[in-house]
Amino acid sequence: MTSNQGDPSLEALKWYVDNGVTDVLENEPVDKTQPAEPIAALVTEAKTQKKTTLTPEVPKAPPMGSNEARKSAEELAKNVKTLDELREAIASFDGLSVKKTALNMVFCDGNPKAPIMVIGEAPGADEDEQGKPFVGASGQLLDKILAGIGLSRKNEEANKSVYVSNILNWRPPGNRTPTPAEMSIALPFIEKHIQLIAPKILILVGNTPMKSLLDSKEGIMKMRGSWHDYKTVSNIGELGSEILVLPTFHPAFLLRNPMKKKDVWQDMIALQKKRIELGIAE
Ligand code: URA
Repeated sequence: MTSNQGDPSLEALKWYVDNGVTDVLENEPVDKTQPAEPIAALVTEAKTQKKTTLTPEVPKAPPMGSNEARKSAEELAKNVKTLDELREAIASFDGLSVKKTALNMVFCDGNPKAPIMVIGEAPGADEDEQGKPFVGASGQLLDKILAGIGLSRKNEEANKSVYVSNILNWRPPGNRTPTPAEMSIALPFIEKHIQLIAPKILILVGNTPMKSLLDSKEGIMKMRGSWHDYKTVSNIGELGSEILVLPTFHPAFLLRNPMKKKDVWQDMIALQKKRIELGIAE
């Protein structure tokens, strides 16, 4: 350590500090007999200000419990007659907190006349930004998988196209998995969506749509590749026609586990056979 002894400027500075002179860097002289400016301003303001009356806080609607939110979603969905009405009903619904944190609502993509509807879990960051389902890395893989059997969501010919949506229309914060309560609240909307599109085949990608729409206790590992008859779980009214369901792995899971792609290939072969059987393959 160096000593200050002998350096006149440092010794002077030490003297100032020891004697409480700490405003040596002010540009203008300061009148210490007056309160500092912010305090003076407050004192003047307090003296001149009339008493203001506090505006009473408008009570906010209490947050909905999940049972109440599910019932309210069911009521809304039951009365919907068109895709536009469904989009509006979902946009106006406040029973899902994910709506507050998301940037955009993600409703659908693809051809509404398609006989095949693909349902995923929930939007991720890319989908949230663009307001469209499956536009990120997993969406690109999904498109490749479907292209393998001649399907594209961009095709205008119904039998060569697919229609795509998700269980949740809002991105959960941090891309977390939707909670069972969120899945239950959103169910009437996606079931109404299915009823309006009336596809011949539903492809459920991953655990979340599979568990939601098949009301299954089993996981996707066991359920993938097997055919099921679709029945609505929520009270949105009867389906107009029969719908077959094929659960398969989510493309995001395939990106992490490329060895599982061969299972999805098996599922796509099964889907192609079913398309031929139902007369919906070109
Ligand atoms: N994952 C999904 O399940 N859905 C999307 O829309 C995007 C990623």
